[in-house]
Amino acid sequence: MQIEITEVSPRDGLQNEKQPVSTAQKIALIEGLVAAGVKRFEATSFVSPRAVPQMADAEQVLAGVNVPDDVILQALVPNLRGAERAAQTRAQEWVCFMSATEGHSQANSNCSTDTALERLKPVMALSQQTGKRAVAALAASFGCPFEGVTPTDRVVQMARALRDIGFTEMKLGDTIGTAIPSQITEVVRALRKDVPDMALVLHLHDTRGLSLANVMAGMAEGVTRYESSLGGIGGCPFAPGATGNVATEDLVHFLHAEGHETGLDLNHLIAQGRWLSDVLGRDLPAKLFAASPIGATIPNDPATRAVG
Ligand code: ZN
Repeated sequence: MQIEITEVSPRDGLQNEKQPVSTAQKIALIEGLVAAGVKRFEATSFVSPRAVPQMADAEQVLAGVNVPDDVILQALVPNLRGAERAAQTRAQEWVCFMSATEGHSQANSNCSTDTALERLKPVMALSQQTGKRAVAALAASFGCPFEGVTPTDRVVQMARALRDIGFTEMKLGDTIGTAIPSQITEVVRALRKDVPDMALVLHLHDTRGLSLANVMAGMAEGVTRYESSLGGIGGCPFAPGATGNVATEDLVHFLHAEGHETGLDLNHLIAQGRWLSDVLGRDLPAKLFAASPIGATIPNDPATRAVG
């Protein structure tokens, strides 16, 4: 099966790093990942620089990065102000973020989910006027740090509301990494039944070590699009206890070993993860980071086998 991976380390990953990462390093991260075969990024966020100082250079990152035209750069657009900023840049896709639960919405966006939905309408209108593609991202789709397990009915209700605003694609965010495979199955099936035209992307965190099991559950339901973060960096500044995304290296290793295709070069990713570790000055959570020095052969990885 051909699997499409969106790399979220430049946004979901770096936004949680306390130490400043320079604009040049962010650009090098994206360009290095393009060299490893990545075709779609969450590249940055037009969140308020006061709320997330790490993303204050969103314009500079997008202006400075040198990538081919077929690479899609997404920018997170939290509100109309962010959308107005994004409209002035090359970002082809806007990630319109909201929460599935009231508790996470209040903590993350300081408003109710009804208000958040209302605020998406002018953003959608602006995206259409400016020829950008708006994609919905529903945080806390499986679990909420304040409300516990997110009911499947709630996710379906939000997906209907997003469809009615005009969204045709949504990212289901397991923001705090509490989803389990049977829940992935249940939510995907419910959405396919009630909102069949909505394209689904799974955005999984590995807080409890179940992210790859959750990918398997998604694949069993025919979901072919996933998000991951180099080295497994990430979290959520407004979700206590959240840890990193599923690591791109681990996801690609798993998919290749199972005979699926991603278009990504695993050894190149591992090398890029080492580079990111040096930039951040610490070991990263990716399992392959500890297990495989650069140049080591990865059993069962077709890319490695071809190299010998
Ligand atoms: Zn996330």
